[in-house]
Amino acid sequence: MDFQELDGAIATIEVFVRDFEPGLLDARGAVRAVERFAKLTHLGEAGTALAAQRVDKTHAYRESGARCAADWLARKTGVASASAFRVMETADALGELPATNAAFRAGKLSEAQAHEIAGAARKDPTAEAELVAVAQRGTTMKGLKDRCRRVRAGAEVDDAAWAQRLHDTRSLRTWVDPDTAACGMWRLSPDKGAEVNAALDAETDLLFRAARAAGTREAREAYAADALHALITRGPRKATGATLIADAGIAEQGYAQRGQRCEIPGMGPIPVTLAKQMLATAKVREVPADPAQLPDYATDRRYYPPWLLAWLEQQYPVCGVAGCDADFHLEIDHVVAKADGGLTEPSNLWRICWYHHRLKTNEDWLVTGTPHNWDLVPPSSGPDPP
Ligand SMILES: [Zn+2]
Repeated sequence: MDFQELDGAIATIEVFVRDFEPGLLDARGAVRAVERFAKLTHLGEAGTALAAQRVDKTHAYRESGARCAADWLARKTGVASASAFRVMETADALGELPATNAAFRAGKLSEAQAHEIAGAARKDPTAEAELVAVAQRGTTMKGLKDRCRRVRAGAEVDDAAWAQRLHDTRSLRTWVDPDTAACGMWRLSPDKGAEVNAALDAETDLLFRAARAAGTREAREAYAADALHALITRGPRKATGATLIADAGIAEQGYAQRGQRCEIPGMGPIPVTLAKQMLATAKVREVPADPAQLPDYATDRRYYPPWLLAWLEQQYPVCGVAGCDADFHLEIDHVVAKADGGLTEPSNLWRICWYHHRLKTNEDWLVTGTPHNWDLVPPSSGPDPP
């Protein structure tokens, strides 16, 4: 193969980047430049993955004394070996996945996206095209991972075996960093992990609010570390528990069918086998999935009955704004503000993140759409508010 054309293109890009003056770009130009360089990065990643696979097949890596192709690739490209292993995995999967292969080669997917899709699409090839479309729609990496987790869960044929695997692969490891910091990492089945997370979140919230009241402000991660220490040395200050959202009758059925829900908010679908264990000691609240089945409720007061809070929580596990996947400190918003006559009723409520709530309240961003299908748009692009 002759690299003349590719070398010519690289030489052109080299000159462009060398002489690139970002200070001369206006806002729109800066965005367009990033779009182009991102595409270039994606093309480079696709070419690297495809060529590295050939290095693997031809054993060319052995000449340098590398143990395997990933090891060789890590040194060659200056990335961590975990990243190089990921690239090799992606490259291996591409042969079976035509849509991912085509999008990756067209510079429309990053290697990280292609890897995420490949892992899920290998479990369920029928989901491949949809996952590629989701990634190209500008979904965040977290959003894509959530979707892929769903596809993988849907492809689990033996619910009990899935639950058992999650249990068997639990682990906790601690180590000491070079500067003597104590570090750790754990892996738990989702039912137990959700309980741990709920306790950690509650303690972190308490510490965060106490610190804020005292006028100090550190990263949430710092308070979460304090919370871990407090919980282990002193125990929880209040009882907490995990939340499970499951369709009625799923426990008797023993498994989840396509479209049925058996999931932990923020974590995704879990085996019904584990859900049954959670339900054995759980406080169950029935919430209709269809808003038409909710009780009639409309008031000008700001009172949310428990069923309404539960419904909003399951309806909006993440911020309701399209493309935002914040699942943290979500706030209930009246679509038509109370001051403008908006009522506290299901069709006028949604949950959005603190940041988007602020854009709506202080920067006049507009809500568009229909009840239970709202979105938020900048004031300039705004169709009429509802
Ligand atoms: Zn948001």
